[in-house]
Parts: sequence; structure tokens; C-alpha cells
Amino acid sequence: MDRPLPADPLMQVTGAVRPNTIAIEGGAFGDEGKGKIVDELCTRMTRDYGTTLVYRWNGGSNAGHTVVVGDKKIALHQLPSGTLTPGATVILGKGMVLHPGDLVAEIDDVVKVLGDVLPSTLYIDQMAVLALDTHRAYEATLQDWESGGKGSTGRGISPAYADVLYRHPMRMRDLRATNWRELLSQHYDLYTAFLHGLGVSLDTCVVPTLNQGNTQVGTKTAFLLRLEEQRQLLLPYIDDVYPFLHEAWYETQIPVIFEGAQAVGLDMRFGVYPDITASDPTFSGILHSTEGIVHPEYIAVRAGAIKATYTSSVGARRLPTAMDDPLAHRIREDAHEYGATTKRPRDIAYIDVPCLSFYAQASSMTHLVMTHLDIAYADVPIKVCTHYTDSTGKIVPYRPDQVYLDSIQPHYLDLPSWRGEAVQGITTLDKLPAEAKQYIAFLTQSLAVAPIIGTTGPQRDAVISWLPV
Ligand code: GDP
Repeated sequence: MDRPLPADPLMQVTGAVRPNTIAIEGGAFGDEGKGKIVDELCTRMTRDYGTTLVYRWNGGSNAGHTVVVGDKKIALHQLPSGTLTPGATVILGKGMVLHPGDLVAEIDDVVKVLGDVLPSTLYIDQMAVLALDTHRAYEATLQDWESGGKGSTGRGISPAYADVLYRHPMRMRDLRATNWRELLSQHYDLYTAFLHGLGVSLDTCVVPTLNQGNTQVGTKTAFLLRLEEQRQLLLPYIDDVYPFLHEAWYETQIPVIFEGAQAVGLDMRFGVYPDITASDPTFSGILHSTEGIVHPEYIAVRAGAIKATYTSSVGARRLPTAMDDPLAHRIREDAHEYGATTKRPRDIAYIDVPCLSFYAQASSMTHLVMTHLDIAYADVPIKVCTHYTDSTGKIVPYRPDQVYLDSIQPHYLDLPSWRGEAVQGITTLDKLPAEAKQYIAFLTQSLAVAPIIGTTGPQRDAVISWLPV
């Protein structure tokens, strides 16, 4: 950094925090529009500070968002949004599970769309865990058995994380080892035995690849041959990230953005079972992913992203505030609330303060990102659940258990709304209607967090910031 850092009061929070740092997690049940926020923040910080470090701490190819650059659309899954920003450095952290084949394809897609090389500098932590075709075959087989694999994306994420618990994970580091073939061969044998026990032959299993394709796992020779090619392409990016991150965090003031995948409502401890994800999508995942370098409490802004006026959800969970009226249909159509891959209509629910504040507290959120401010209707008040009661009429809290949630009664307050079309694409706070400002004040006070960013449309620049520009 060869120039002084501009003053940025919100980011320079005094005390023990590291200035110029922000973490974004999903504050509800996923698909909140986090990718666009990181993209916008990274562009803004790189412009102001010359560079930005973007660190992804969880998940793998089960995440996905589309970033629009000019007239080009790029789908990102394992790469963080900052990958598209020239001058940024992006790290795929230890807390991730990475599929080498999908990663090679994703890097290739970005390079093809944006030019000859990746616009940013990419590091893959050598400690990141491998999610391989073996894991996908195992997960698919479990799904065929009634008892297992419920709610999985079929990307082998849970089995890859389970390998860590079973103490036999394959890591990116293993791809660098001179005996990589031997290590991966043992891994193939292990999964052959697992699947054999379930009555399935690993080599004939067909597993999904990026971009909706399929491939057969194949014989051990075929499996190793594919990996040989992929590791050659990935080796330049795999590194011991720890010393670099340690220096960047403690000895510089380079801006750092932490990008989470999935959402706190999908956390295995705080989510409604079995609709959970195997990684740690909360800010606490940053601590273990960075091997203790970054304590989340030292991050200046820990922001949870939610859809401002409603919540959407996919899976088996039944939200207490689920809508079954024409409004759900209207929102679903206007906000394209259909699964990106499955095209399944997403469930739509009213904003639920007990639920959202449970997730804000569980993950130590300090700030709120509110997306989809343009999905509002002047003729329909915003219905917000303020509290629940049990069968005796006693006020009770949110608890992440479906049996419990089915037994409680939500109570609502109607708040004045605004014409969503009128805020579409606006970029300054002063253009927000008074009703929207009042609603934002109500919501952030109810959740005991501060507003930080709002979005007013799917376009890249449809962003309002509470940060000084
Ligand atoms: P992520 O996984 O949290 O990054 O979210 P996704 O990218 O999967 O989903 C967000 C969807 O909402 C995408 O289709 C975005 O284009 C869209 N989106 C993001 N922000 C807004 C917004 O402010 N308004 C509207 N109408 N759509 C938005």
C-alpha cells in the first residue's frame, strides 16, 4: 500500500477491532443476495484502497450466485465474488470443501468471460478439504436409502465434512504431496468399500458436475487420471495461506471482506433439522477456518443479509410465518423466487422478528444487510411477526425445532409499505420513501443491529450504503 488510507468512520471503529474489515453471512435461510453485496463492497474498497482481500470460510459447490459484469453473467460457486475484481486477492479457506474438477471448470469459465487470466489473485488454502466424486456417489447412494442424505445438494458436501469427523479427510495439501496418487488411491478404496456395503459399485456411479453435466466415477485408474489433470491446473494456486493471512491481518490495514455461504438458519446447531448444511455458515466459522488468526469479534462489521420485506426458504422446513395467500404468489413472481437449479417454487414467509433475532444473536451479528427493498407494494402493508404464543397464550421464543414451531402461534403487526417500483435501482438513502426508512428503523431496532447496506434491484449497482462513500 503506497498511499494513506482514506478515513472511514464506520470501519475505523475504535477498540480492539481490526479496521477496514467486514463479514457477510446469510442472516435467514440462504439466497439473500450475498454475492452481489460482496461484489459491490470489493469493487468499492479496491477502488478506495488499491486492493482488497476476500476470504471465503465455508461451504463448497453447494453455494451459488450469479454476478453480472457489464452485459456478461458469471455463475460463482466455490470462488468468492471478489474473484471478478482486478486488484483483489481471494482466498478459499480451510473451512471449505472443494471439488477440484468443478473448481477448474469455474476458473475456466471466469477466464473465458473476462479475458486471458483471472482478474484477481487466487490462493487456495492447502488445508481446505477435498470433496470428490467418491463423496458425490456416496451421498447419492444414501439418498436412495430412505434414512440418509436428506436435503443434500448432491455435491458431496456432507460426506467430505464427515471425513474430517472420521479423521480421514483428503486435503488440498494431499494433491501437492509426492505420494498423492497413493493417498487418493487409498481414499478410492475406502469409498469402494463403503458403497459395496450399501450394495453399490463405485465405478459405475454417475455423479453431477458443474454446469449441469454428469460423469461416471469410473475405475480407480480413470478417477486418478482425472485428478492428475485437475491437480496440475490447481497446483499454482494451492499454498500455505497462514503466513500470508497472518501478515495481512496483523501488519497491514488492507481491507478484508469475509464471504459466507449458505446462512445461519441452515447451521447444524441453529437450523431446523434436517434442513441444515454441514459447514459452519456463522461468523464463528471464520475463527477455525483461519486457524485462530481472525476472531470474529475483531471484525469491525459482522453483517447478516436478509430479504428486507419477506423471507424465502427451500426444503422441508415449515416456517411459522409462511404465507399461503396471493401475496406469496405475487412476491414469488416479482422476485423470481424459484430454485436456481431445480426451478422449484420457494416458500415465502412474512418477516419473523423472533426467528431473525434468534439468528442475529446466535451469530453475534452487529449489522444488517437488507436486500430486495424493491419487493414492496404500496397497497399491501408489510406484515411482521412480533412474537409467538403457545397453546396457553404465554409468549414464547423461537426455537429451531419443527415440532415446537408447528405448535406455536405467530402474532403480527402491519407496517406501512411503499411502492417497490419507485425504489428500483435507487442508490442513495435520501431517495428512499419515508415508509421504507421507518420500516428499516423498526426492523434494525427489533433485531438490535445497525443498517449497513440495502439493495434495490438485481442490478450490480442497485445498492444503498450506510457506509460513507
Ligand atoms: P446468495 O447466494 O445469497 O448470493 O443469493 P443468490 O445470488 O442465490 O440469490 C439472490 C437472487 O436475488 C439473485 O437472483 C439476485 O439477482 C436477486 N437479487 C439480489 N438483490 C436483489 C434486490 O435487491 N432486488 C431484487 N428484486 N432481486 C435481487
